Amino acid sequence: MSLADDADLIERFEEFYRNYYRNEIGQLAQKYPSEQRSLYVDWDDLYRYDPDVADDFLAKPGQMLEYAEEALRLYDLPVDVKLGNAHVRVRGLADPTGIRDIRADHVGNLVAVQGIVRKATDVRPKMQEAAFECQRCGTLTRIPQGSDFQEPHECQGCERQGPFQINFDQSEFVDAQKLRVQESPEGLRGGETPQAIDIHIEDDITGRVTAGDHVTATGILHLDQQENQGQKSAIFDFYMEGLSIEIEDEQFEDMDITDEDERAILELSNDPDLYEKMVDSLAPSIYGYREEKLAIIMQLFSGVRKELPDGSKIRGDLHMLLIGDPGTGKSQLLQYIRNLAPRSVYTSGKGSSSAGLTAAAVRDDFGDGQQWTLEAGALVLADQGIAAIDELDKMRSEDRSAMHEALEQQSISISKAGINATLKSRCSLLGAANPKYGRFDEYEPIAEQIDLEPALVSRFDLIFTITDKPDEEKDRDLAEHIIKTNFAGELHTHRSNVATSNVSQEEVDSVTEEVEPAIEADLLRKYVAFAKRECYPTMTEEAKEAIREFYVTLRGQGEGDDSPVPVTARKLEALVRLAEASARIRLSDTVTTEDTDRVIEIVRSSLEDVGMDPETGEFDADMVEAGTSKSQRDRIKNVKGIIRELQDEYERGAPFEEVIERAEQAGIDRSKVEHEIQKLKNKGDIYEPQTDHLRVV
Ligand code: ADP
Ligand code: MG
Repeated sequence: MSLADDADLIERFEEFYRNYYRNEIGQLAQKYPSEQRSLYVDWDDLYRYDPDVADDFLAKPGQMLEYAEEALRLYDLPVDVKLGNAHVRVRGLADPTGIRDIRADHVGNLVAVQGIVRKATDVRPKMQEAAFECQRCGTLTRIPQGSDFQEPHECQGCERQGPFQINFDQSEFVDAQKLRVQESPEGLRGGETPQAIDIHIEDDITGRVTAGDHVTATGILHLDQQENQGQKSAIFDFYMEGLSIEIEDEQFEDMDITDEDERAILELSNDPDLYEKMVDSLAPSIYGYREEKLAIIMQLFSGVRKELPDGSKIRGDLHMLLIGDPGTGKSQLLQYIRNLAPRSVYTSGKGSSSAGLTAAAVRDDFGDGQQWTLEAGALVLADQGIAAIDELDKMRSEDRSAMHEALEQQSISISKAGINATLKSRCSLLGAANPKYGRFDEYEPIAEQIDLEPALVSRFDLIFTITDKPDEEKDRDLAEHIIKTNFAGELHTHRSNVATSNVSQEEVDSVTEEVEPAIEADLLRKYVAFAKRECYPTMTEEAKEAIREFYVTLRGQGEGDDSPVPVTARKLEALVRLAEASARIRLSDTVTTEDTDRVIEIVRSSLEDVGMDPETGEFDADMVEAGTSKSQRDRIKNVKGIIRELQDEYERGAPFEEVIERAEQAGIDRSKVEHEIQKLKNKGDIYEPQTDHLRVV
């Protein structure tokens, strides 16, 4: 480009500023440089002024930025200030580019990307120009610094090779920060791994965003050569030189719901079998679990997030835990949520990233091993969505403590190495876990087999247990269901892959129909988004009364001391939340007794699942162990009692066989007695003074 062109373009920018940004520049001049160092330019404005210039800005942003900044320096200011190092920061591009769609073609272009900040380093000074002081003659040699540190070849004064020392006062530094922005979960089609891009930012825009923020970043796309064990590789990475970073309004439920969709949604909301249909539509390939599925549906809709007049907040999100034997379809159920819930994250408790489930401050390659990086984990990435976490019992100990805060306060605080941050995690947690010993032990109360601390367990609104006991009728139905689902899949696959397939479309359709969701996933997704956006139900008097009644009976007999799910006021809030969710499902403005009835039934069944009798507030071992009439505790006492009795009769202690015989007379099976004896031995309550003889300690 010729000199004339340069001057011409600079003039164009000056005119653009005069027409569009007069006030903004006036303001900048007043606040420069301490309070403000950037002029924000909307690309749209530039386009309105001159589409060619705007398009050039997209194609050659580096060059155009220089003209724009030069024009700003030359701009006639009313006050006597020089905007020496002011930045022009472009934002508001017409179309953001998908992070996964970035290709070599985009290199050197101005692009905008949207996503969630996955990692952010702390802000550190970066040297822009180093002043090397010659130790022989004292002359300063200035060397501009890029990504690699450059030293002078020779002194500009005496032309000798140093030695040099850096004079920090004479060197120039700028604040620098590196971010990693990842595609938002809502943009992903079920199961895709999110892609990310690194963004380098400098000066006044550093330190403004933190991990977990949803942002739009506009900047210039560059390449960075990869290295493999010190060898430069022919493969390059993309990174963005960020010109502007804006935090997005977080309330957006950006799903396109057309008028036609809205009609379908309203029609569905009046369906008399609405709740049944919803349940039928959740993971139809998984047989059974109707109660669990209804609860998950409620979780999708969630209760109302309440803000009190004093500014405090009550969460509306529901947390749910499934504890069950292996191979009972828990993982499958959790994975299905990803297809359904906007902004959902599926991960395992072990966590695949260093941030794990919550968040972490780490020192790793991302910050060149020097800077601390704050990294958002699953519960932060799922902000405003659902975090489906499999194998929750395997979560790392660092996550356990942060989890308490995350579930109740819906935020995660990190305070480490000078990083003090509070990240938002307003999500619902759907957790799955195996029992303590991998599989439920039918002789132990279920409550004692939940391998999570009570304080954490009590934060779940609902807990369901799944035991895999053979049951002929159920097994037959399950087999039928799985075979049917697989057969539909076989027919469909055969027809799609075999050219000469004799399977007709009608055949496929008729078999598929039986295993298809009643409501299409796409419609259900929109329905949920619509309800969460439009529907804020309030409680009727009758509903309030019903919940009050149920809660008081629950508390009635006081709390069981060993209860892993102490009934506290949290349960009361859980009831309210669930009832609101139930009302939302049919887009109702009020929570009625229809909702409270439904919810009370679910809560009752959830409590029974963990072995608590909702009527008395006590554990009832009969529920845990169908078939015995005496409670667990009595029986333990009994076996111990029998040993105590017998040891007085026999000098060498109570003979093993004798103990079993007496216990059997009292109605306890042999296998259970043996189990009990083993347990008492393990606990150190009894010992074996001689082979096959027992004594109470
Ligand atoms: P878990 O996570 O509980 O250990 P998985 O979700 O991995 O179990 O399930 C194991 C397999 O068994 C899956 O292929 C799943 O489809 C099947 N399965 C288990 N229970 C059911 C069920 N109730 N309906 C349909 N499939 C089931
Ligand atoms: Mg599993």
